[in-house]
Amino acid sequence: MQSHRRVLLLNASYEALNIVSAPKALALVWRRVAEVLENDPGETIRSLRYTFQVPSVIRLTHYVDVRSRQNRTTSRLRILVRDKYRCQYCGKKGTAFDLTLDHIMPKSKGGRTTAENLVAACMPCNNRKADRTPDEARMPLLANPAALYFGLRQAAFHHAAEERPEWKKYLFLEDAYLERTA
Ligand SMILES: [Zn+2]
Repeated sequence: MQSHRRVLLLNASYEALNIVSAPKALALVWRRVAEVLENDPGETIRSLRYTFQVPSVIRLTHYVDVRSRQNRTTSRLRILVRDKYRCQYCGKKGTAFDLTLDHIMPKSKGGRTTAENLVAACMPCNNRKADRTPDEARMPLLANPAALYFGLRQAAFHHAAEERPEWKKYLFLEDAYLERTA
Protein backbone atom coordinates (compact mmCIF):
# COMPACT_ATOMS: atom_id res chain seq x y z
CA MET A 1 0.00 0.00 0.00
CA GLN A 2 1.64 3.18 -1.14
CA SER A 3 0.24 6.63 -1.55
CA HIS A 4 1.82 9.89 -0.54
CA ARG A 5 -1.47 11.73 -0.79
CA ARG A 6 -2.37 13.59 2.37
CA VAL A 7 -5.66 13.43 4.19
CA LEU A 8 -7.24 16.12 6.36
CA LEU A 9 -8.25 14.70 9.75
CA LEU A 10 -11.10 16.45 11.59
CA ASN A 11 -12.21 15.97 15.16
CA ALA A 12 -15.77 14.78 15.80
CA SER A 13 -16.56 18.50 16.28
CA TYR A 14 -15.35 19.11 12.66
CA GLU A 15 -12.37 21.06 13.98
CA ALA A 16 -9.28 20.43 11.81
CA LEU A 17 -6.80 18.36 13.82
CA ASN A 18 -4.03 17.15 11.62
CA ILE A 19 -2.86 16.12 8.20
CA VAL A 20 -2.16 12.40 7.95
CA SER A 21 -0.91 9.98 5.30
CA ALA A 22 -3.42 8.10 3.14
CA PRO A 23 -2.51 4.66 4.62
CA LYS A 24 -2.94 6.02 8.14
CA ALA A 25 -6.29 7.56 7.21
CA LEU A 26 -7.48 4.28 5.71
CA ALA A 27 -6.41 2.43 8.85
CA LEU A 28 -8.48 4.81 10.99
CA VAL A 29 -11.52 4.33 8.74
CA TRP A 30 -10.98 0.56 8.65
CA ARG A 31 -10.96 0.45 12.46
CA ARG A 32 -14.09 2.64 12.46
CA VAL A 33 -12.25 5.29 14.46
CA ALA A 34 -12.99 7.73 11.67
CA GLU A 35 -15.50 8.15 8.86
CA VAL A 36 -14.93 9.43 5.34
CA LEU A 37 -16.38 12.85 4.54
CA GLU A 38 -14.76 13.36 1.14
CA ASN A 39 -12.93 11.07 -1.22
CA ASP A 40 -9.89 12.06 -3.22
CA PRO A 41 -11.13 11.84 -6.82
CA GLY A 42 -9.26 9.23 -8.83
CA GLU A 43 -6.87 8.28 -6.02
CA THR A 44 -6.77 4.64 -5.00
CA ILE A 45 -4.50 2.41 -2.98
CA ARG A 46 -4.14 -1.23 -4.00
CA SER A 47 -3.38 -4.10 -1.68
CA LEU A 48 -3.00 -7.67 -2.96
CA ARG A 49 -6.74 -8.25 -3.16
CA TYR A 50 -8.47 -4.95 -2.79
CA THR A 51 -8.50 -1.48 -4.21
CA PHE A 52 -9.37 1.27 -1.79
CA GLN A 53 -10.65 4.72 -2.64
CA VAL A 54 -8.32 7.20 -0.92
CA PRO A 55 -10.15 9.64 1.34
CA SER A 56 -9.45 13.37 1.23
CA VAL A 57 -11.20 14.41 4.46
CA ILE A 58 -12.00 12.11 7.39
CA ARG A 59 -13.64 12.79 10.74
CA LEU A 60 -13.12 11.04 14.07
CA THR A 61 -16.27 9.28 15.25
CA HIS A 62 -15.53 10.23 18.89
CA TYR A 63 -14.33 13.61 20.10
CA VAL A 64 -10.70 13.63 21.22
CA ASP A 65 -9.32 16.43 23.38
CA VAL A 66 -5.94 17.00 21.78
CA ARG A 67 -5.29 20.56 22.85
CA SER A 68 -2.67 19.64 25.46
CA ARG A 69 -0.96 17.27 23.05
CA GLN A 70 -0.81 19.85 20.25
CA ASN A 71 0.90 22.33 22.57
CA ARG A 72 3.95 20.13 22.49
CA THR A 73 4.32 20.34 18.72
CA THR A 74 7.47 22.36 18.32
CA SER A 75 8.71 21.52 14.85
CA ARG A 76 11.27 24.17 14.02
CA LEU A 77 10.09 24.58 10.45
CA ARG A 78 6.46 25.07 11.46
CA ILE A 79 7.43 27.80 13.89
CA LEU A 80 9.54 29.56 11.26
CA VAL A 81 6.64 29.38 8.78
CA ARG A 82 4.22 30.67 11.43
CA ASP A 83 6.53 33.61 12.13
CA LYS A 84 6.95 34.20 8.38
CA TYR A 85 10.71 33.81 8.73
CA ARG A 86 10.92 37.07 10.67
CA CYS A 87 12.73 37.67 13.92
CA GLN A 88 9.87 38.27 16.37
CA TYR A 89 11.89 40.88 18.27
CA CYS A 90 13.35 43.17 15.60
CA GLY A 91 11.26 42.09 12.60
CA LYS A 92 14.26 41.33 10.42
CA LYS A 93 13.65 38.71 7.74
CA GLY A 94 15.86 35.62 7.84
CA THR A 95 16.17 32.09 6.50
CA ALA A 96 16.01 28.61 8.02
CA PHE A 97 19.79 28.78 8.21
CA ASP A 98 20.32 32.00 10.13
CA LEU A 99 17.18 32.17 12.31
CA THR A 100 17.19 30.58 15.75
CA LEU A 101 14.31 29.56 17.99
CA ASP A 102 14.13 31.58 21.19
CA HIS A 103 12.34 30.51 24.38
CA ILE A 104 10.18 33.55 25.21
CA MET A 105 10.19 32.56 28.89
CA PRO A 106 13.72 31.18 29.30
CA LYS A 107 14.11 27.53 30.19
CA SER A 108 16.16 28.57 33.23
CA LYS A 109 13.04 30.37 34.52
CA GLY A 110 10.77 27.39 33.92
CA GLY A 111 9.77 28.23 30.32
CA ARG A 112 8.59 25.14 28.46
CA THR A 113 9.53 23.97 24.99
CA THR A 114 6.07 24.45 23.50
CA ALA A 115 4.98 26.17 20.31
CA GLU A 116 3.56 29.17 22.14
CA ASN A 117 6.79 29.68 24.11
CA LEU A 118 9.05 29.57 21.04
CA VAL A 119 9.59 32.27 18.45
CA ALA A 120 11.87 32.86 15.50
CA ALA A 121 14.73 35.14 16.51
CA CYS A 122 17.78 36.39 14.65
CA MET A 123 21.11 35.53 16.19
CA PRO A 124 21.87 39.08 17.49
CA CYS A 125 18.44 39.34 19.20
CA ASN A 126 18.74 35.84 20.66
CA ASN A 127 22.18 36.68 22.09
CA ARG A 128 21.04 40.05 23.39
CA LYS A 129 17.95 38.64 25.08
CA ALA A 130 19.96 35.75 26.55
CA ASP A 131 18.48 34.33 29.75
CA ARG A 132 15.92 37.09 30.30
CA THR A 133 12.19 37.47 29.72
CA PRO A 134 11.16 39.99 27.01
CA ASP A 135 10.24 42.42 29.82
CA GLU A 136 13.57 42.10 31.57
CA ALA A 137 15.42 42.50 28.28
CA ARG A 138 13.09 45.35 27.17
CA MET A 139 12.52 43.44 23.96
CA PRO A 140 8.75 43.26 23.37
CA LEU A 141 7.43 40.62 20.99
CA LEU A 142 5.87 41.69 17.69
CA ALA A 143 2.90 39.36 18.32
CA ASN A 144 1.52 37.93 21.53
CA PRO A 145 2.10 34.22 22.16
CA ALA A 146 -1.57 33.25 21.87
CA ALA A 147 -1.65 34.76 18.38
CA LEU A 148 1.56 32.92 17.59
CA TYR A 149 0.08 29.60 18.62
CA PHE A 150 -3.14 30.19 16.71
CA GLY A 151 -1.09 31.21 13.68
CA LEU A 152 1.00 28.06 13.83
CA ARG A 153 -1.96 25.78 13.16
CA GLN A 154 -3.60 28.10 10.67
CA ALA A 155 -0.40 28.50 8.66
CA ALA A 156 0.09 24.76 8.33
CA PHE A 157 -3.51 24.01 7.33
CA HIS A 158 -3.88 26.89 4.94
CA HIS A 159 -0.59 26.12 3.27
CA ALA A 160 -1.72 22.53 2.70
CA ALA A 161 -5.17 23.63 1.52
CA GLU A 162 -3.70 25.64 -1.34
CA GLU A 163 -3.37 22.39 -3.25
CA ARG A 164 -6.57 20.84 -1.88
CA PRO A 165 -9.58 23.06 -2.61
CA GLU A 166 -11.94 20.45 -1.16
CA TRP A 167 -10.40 21.06 2.30
CA LYS A 168 -11.16 24.75 2.39
CA LYS A 169 -14.75 24.59 3.58
CA TYR A 170 -13.64 22.62 6.64
CA LEU A 171 -10.84 25.02 7.43
CA PHE A 172 -13.06 28.08 7.08
CA LEU A 173 -15.55 26.34 9.33
CA GLU A 174 -12.75 25.97 11.85
CA ASP A 175 -12.00 29.69 11.66
CA ALA A 176 -15.63 30.49 12.37
CA TYR A 177 -15.69 28.00 15.22
CA LEU A 178 -12.59 29.48 16.85
CA GLU A 179 -13.87 33.03 16.49
CA ARG A 180 -17.11 32.05 18.20
CA THR A 181 -15.31 30.40 21.10
CA ALA A 182 -12.46 32.92 21.42
ZN1 LIG B 1 16.19 40.25 15.62
